[in-house]
Amino acid sequence: MTQSTSRVFSGVQPTGNLHLGNYLGAITKFVALQEDYECLYCVVDLHAITAWQEPKELEHNIREVTATFIASGIDPKAQIIFNQSRVSGHAELAWIFNCVARMGWLNRMTQFKEKAGKHRENASVGLFAYPNLMAADILLYKATHVPVGDDQKQHLELARDIAQKFNSDFSASIAGHGFDETFFPLPEPLITGPATRVMSLRDGAAKMSKSDASDMTRINMMDDADTIAKKFRKARTDPEPLPGEKAGLKDRPEAENLVGIYAALAGITPAQTLKEFGGGQFSSFKEALTGVAVEKLGPISAETKRLMDDPAHIDRILADGAARARAIAEPILRQTKDVIGLLGG
Ligand code: ATP
Ligand code: MG
Repeated sequence: MTQSTSRVFSGVQPTGNLHLGNYLGAITKFVALQEDYECLYCVVDLHAITAWQEPKELEHNIREVTATFIASGIDPKAQIIFNQSRVSGHAELAWIFNCVARMGWLNRMTQFKEKAGKHRENASVGLFAYPNLMAADILLYKATHVPVGDDQKQHLELARDIAQKFNSDFSASIAGHGFDETFFPLPEPLITGPATRVMSLRDGAAKMSKSDASDMTRINMMDDADTIAKKFRKARTDPEPLPGEKAGLKDRPEAENLVGIYAALAGITPAQTLKEFGGGQFSSFKEALTGVAVEKLGPISAETKRLMDDPAHIDRILADGAARARAIAEPILRQTKDVIGLLGG
């Protein structure tokens, strides 16, 4: 049953190959939420261009993320799948939020620090302002629930701060227009279930990322069985055998990560995983891990490939989704402008 006062929004950047972290941390959650909510799932192309993207590759990646959403089980008829740049309200509301958010808030964002690294002066302004656009993505639809991986927690908190500051800065005008005092709802992050933070296969302290320079750090959704086997085989571990219980994973981030991945893919708990594999060597555990990963990802990548053979079909889905997204966004953006005092029809 759809809960009418609730709305789910989330996005994935078309920045490269989707990986196991995106799948377990975000896409599986997107699929589950469609049972109970009206959902908008967005291919956030405007976020992607905060770092340089080759235009032809960007087009390909926008379609591939869309195809992966559908191949993973999101129903594009029941839910809304679209690419962000098609609905201009995202950019418009982001500008408004650029004027609501404070420099001090954005200066605290760890993602910017990590992504800009030592080249802060050379980072795009867009990369710095990224969380304001993300707040706009969500609030343009007055979405109430946002399923994301653990790495996005801080950005969600910022979106809540922006919503709250807008509601309070404009409280008199909001009331004057007869709107509810919580004009923008404070969106709830949904960071639940297993694998909310899948780590790199090469470094247990870094998260698995599309933009990591080394392909060996991640299992891509489109990797074939041999590549998956090779990457798990070469995944960093430690010399100790697997422990029999969770306490034994303390200070062993690489082992903990692989156990977490296995558990999430097999639909069991890490404790159950350790009961089965505890005391054994990593080599045999890695073979089992490859088995469950291939079993889960194989059919999805095959279906993604099939969908990618018909790009016009994907483009129609995106255009249709954008039209439906726009229909929700337009009145909200108009009301927002009225509240601020920006004249218009
Ligand atoms: P990029 O490196 O370009 O930022 P990314 O791998 O972080 O790419 P995003 O498109 O930024 O992917 O994120 C899409 C969704 O996947 C978000 O909800 C994010 O929290 C989630 N996610 C990304 N990486 C992981 C991970 N390693 N574990 C769990 N969830 C993740
Ligand atoms: Mg990211």
